[in-house]
Amino acid sequence: MLKLENFPKIDAHFHSTFYDPVYEKIAKDYHIKYININTNAGVFPDMEVQENVALTYIKKAPAHFAYIASFEMQGWENPNWYPNVLERLKKSINQGAVGVKIWKNIGMEILKPNDQSFLMIDDPFFDSLFVYLSENKIPVLTHLGEPKNCWLPIEEMTSERNKAYYIKNPEFHAYLHPEIPSYERQIEARDYLLTKYPDLTLIGAHLGSLEWSYGELAKRFDQHANFYVDLSSRLGHLQMQSVHDYEGVRNFFIKYADRILYGTDAYNNPEKLMSSLINDWNYFTTNKGCEYTEVNGAFMGIDLPEEVLYKLYYANALRIYTGLNVEI
Ligand SMILES: [Zn+2]
Repeated sequence: MLKLENFPKIDAHFHSTFYDPVYEKIAKDYHIKYININTNAGVFPDMEVQENVALTYIKKAPAHFAYIASFEMQGWENPNWYPNVLERLKKSINQGAVGVKIWKNIGMEILKPNDQSFLMIDDPFFDSLFVYLSENKIPVLTHLGEPKNCWLPIEEMTSERNKAYYIKNPEFHAYLHPEIPSYERQIEARDYLLTKYPDLTLIGAHLGSLEWSYGELAKRFDQHANFYVDLSSRLGHLQMQSVHDYEGVRNFFIKYADRILYGTDAYNNPEKLMSSLINDWNYFTTNKGCEYTEVNGAFMGIDLPEEVLYKLYYANALRIYTGLNVEI
């Protein structure tokens, strides 16, 4: 019988924006390496602060922490923006960042000054950046778009968690802001990167915003050998699908075992981190009844084979983020 405490795990989507020793304790007690994701979001501190916090964790316990760098979009219209970003990213990679994070402000917030249209990730503006990342084999973690529910009225959303979030944060609820490019347009812009840069390793955070259909994910995996996803904050959507299509979801995890990375998305919240670790483990490793607030009704654990668990929890992140050279 496998035990959560002993099984090696990489939490490939973790956020801690101030140093808290509790994570080092959890990491050691539960055999975890965290990848701390720097993000250009309003609720996060400045990028420099985030980066320094990530480096502090690494200095204290290098076996248990790593980080993914990011960049600020502020001043992107300025010709100095790209050279400055490039210089910063090179510095971040030199000091150990294992990838670069791209956030949904691109596609959902930032406007082009000439015509007030939304700056999308497939805009030629980003060509030099992606050529650099692709040529230097730097993995890119993209949070582009949002769950499909974001473009639906509250009463049509499939997830209780999404409903609560968009009721609380109406400014992010795309249904209320028809000027925001459509869900399909967000996915199209991301997919364009997969086609245009086949040598770029692209990890779609949050199931690549295709959380509502494992079939849509399977299609992308078949089409693009360079596409991976992490499960962070969206596993509930696959659990929902497993209520009615247990075998389909289980087979998806087995067939695409090389493409899926475990991640909690815990944000400065050790309690949430612990409950995710335990609930997710029960879902993946048992065939017992599970319950989760996001999913209406009980659902069964999918009891994955050990080699699939090993890839999902550990080996994939180690292979894909090649800078992760310290094993736990
Ligand atoms: Zn996140």
